[in-house]
Amino acid sequence: MKKNKFEEMIPEELLDGIRTNGIAYIPIGSMEWHGPHMAMGMDTLNVYGVSLLSSNKTGGVVLPPTYIGTESARDPETLRKVGFSGDESIVGMDFPGNSIKSFYWPPELFELIVRHQIEMLRDMGYRLIVLANGHGADNQIEILNRLAQEYSCQRCQVLSIFILFEDSNVGIGHAGLAETAIMLHICPQGVDLERLPARNQKLYNVDYGIVDSETFISGGGPDFAVRYDPRDATAEIGEMLVSHAAAKCAEIVTKSLQNII
Ligand SMILES: [Zn+2]
Repeated sequence: MKKNKFEEMIPEELLDGIRTNGIAYIPIGSMEWHGPHMAMGMDTLNVYGVSLLSSNKTGGVVLPPTYIGTESARDPETLRKVGFSGDESIVGMDFPGNSIKSFYWPPELFELIVRHQIEMLRDMGYRLIVLANGHGADNQIEILNRLAQEYSCQRCQVLSIFILFEDSNVGIGHAGLAETAIMLHICPQGVDLERLPARNQKLYNVDYGIVDSETFISGGGPDFAVRYDPRDATAEIGEMLVSHAAAKCAEIVTKSLQNII
């Protein structure tokens, strides 16, 4: 198979790629609480896997995964949607009952790192830079979208793609069914379902730090329990989700490539 990991390529191979289509993926995630049953690198492992698969289809290089993500304080309305009373002080997924804290980087520092990465790639001659993002924090998405817009010009296009696509037919969310399935596929050693209670017990959002996307958007059900249950996850569902995301990603990249070459 063609090499695509940036850090493994010799200069002439990099230059070949720049001359051919000039695509570079920057996989960006987080190091964040993903329930008591999953490793904290989930978002980053996912986006790295999707970026490698997408680049197999589109060509281009993939930078090493960026385990640096940012977050912000939850507003009272979101806290109530999840099942809190609304007056708690909570950043991202760091719910009070979690046993360890996430590594959330200050947004200004996060932005500066991505900004420099884009500039170094652009100066090397890359013409299509893909900010592939696996962490759904509002401020992370906003920063990446803004940078993509700011750096896109005639000779260099920058795309910001959030790789958790809503149309996969599997209920997405934080550390729930979809993400657990993806992890079982790409990094099975990073999942231990035994850490969750028996299947007949409900997983309450506030107790486990596991939340459906639907709940974040429109609020939880009457008991604020997880609907898309991580205990139903399989590696097969995960493989389907990763290939779906890679196909969508490759489609967006290919379309964009037609505009610049
Ligand atoms: Zn995640």
